[in-house]
Amino acid sequence: MSKNIVILAGDGIGPEIMNEAEKVLSTVNQQFGLDLMWTHELLGGAAIDAHGVPLPEQTLNAARQADAVLLGAVGGPKWDNIERSIRPERGLLKIRSELNLFANLRPAILYPQLADASSLKPEIVAGLDILIVRELTGGIYFGQPRGIRTLENGERQGYNTDVYSESEIRRIAHVAFQLAQQRNKKLLSVDKANVLEVTELWKQVVTDIAAEYPDVELSHMYVDNAAMQLVRAPKQFDVIVTGNLFGDILSDEAAMLTGSIGMLPSASLDANKKGMYEPCHGSAPDIAGKGVANPLATILSVAMMLRYTFNAEAAAKAIETAVGKVLDQGLRTPDIWSEGTTKVGTESMGNAVVNALINLGE
Ligand code: NAD
Repeated sequence: MSKNIVILAGDGIGPEIMNEAEKVLSTVNQQFGLDLMWTHELLGGAAIDAHGVPLPEQTLNAARQADAVLLGAVGGPKWDNIERSIRPERGLLKIRSELNLFANLRPAILYPQLADASSLKPEIVAGLDILIVRELTGGIYFGQPRGIRTLENGERQGYNTDVYSESEIRRIAHVAFQLAQQRNKKLLSVDKANVLEVTELWKQVVTDIAAEYPDVELSHMYVDNAAMQLVRAPKQFDVIVTGNLFGDILSDEAAMLTGSIGMLPSASLDANKKGMYEPCHGSAPDIAGKGVANPLATILSVAMMLRYTFNAEAAAKAIETAVGKVLDQGLRTPDIWSEGTTKVGTESMGNAVVNALINLGE
């Protein structure tokens, strides 16, 4: 039976980059006989314009029924001044929570050809390939009680609650161990167990679960040290699992090691590996409609989708290899361009990846 994907191109550069990702998807679908089918729905500003809400019922139902969702990006100045509760970004948060996407996977991969784009020395980052697994639906971002209150002495006090139940820790740990099994079998769990009880429990539960994955080497690190090690010697890491707050910060730190937001894909998975796949960047209104956006993050999100939801590793690898070949050819969109390379637009970059895929197959 065919597997179904819902494509949400979104706003700004979303439709431009999605066009190229779709060409790549069609190519591997044929090459590898994947039997994937897809439909298009509206999300974000495009949905507000058509239906008055950022996440129409039809989009949510289609996403619920699909095996995976592929998203471009949402938002833009056109919708910045409308009521907060129906802004484009609300549609994005709602679809993530409605689909219970608790595991956020953010790879930080640095193609050796782009080592100069990093703010770190090329020898420290060339070939970097880290996967950060961030718990996305719990922890201090959701814990109750929370708020700002006024104390008896009239001083205001802000407070949040960092809370994780065993089941929440267990399910994200399982995802991380299984991902480590598919990679280099090294998992680092990041906590602050010396100070925070919630992460003491995190560490205990992750350690208990390790017994079920004897082939994976588990280690632990305090978050302050992890932040330091990420810029000192990032290549020591394979998979990193951590809670919502630490994951938010560490994944951005790791992403910037690669120097380019236009290259970074992401996935958010539920308990059954159904996922929503999207580039890490936004809708880039400043360059929308100009045909210069880098489509590679979205194309690499397709590769993640094939790997994690559809278990099509060979097809995922082929896309990643094709992207490497295109970079080898010296083709660069303006965001990753440097002296001595060839500047190309969104469409030419997409076409080059398709051609590289076809050449790989021959
Ligand atoms: P942004 O990621 O859209 O853009 C930041 C900078 O990076 C801009 O200069 C942009 O031109 C550049 N950039 C981003 N993607 C690029 C690409 N593929 N190729 C080349 N350059 C690229 O972030 P922002 O400007 O803070 O936000 C713009 C809009 O996007 C806002 O409405 C914001 O709410 C929304 N947003 C959406 C998502 C999402 O849909 N997941 C994420 C972040 C921001």
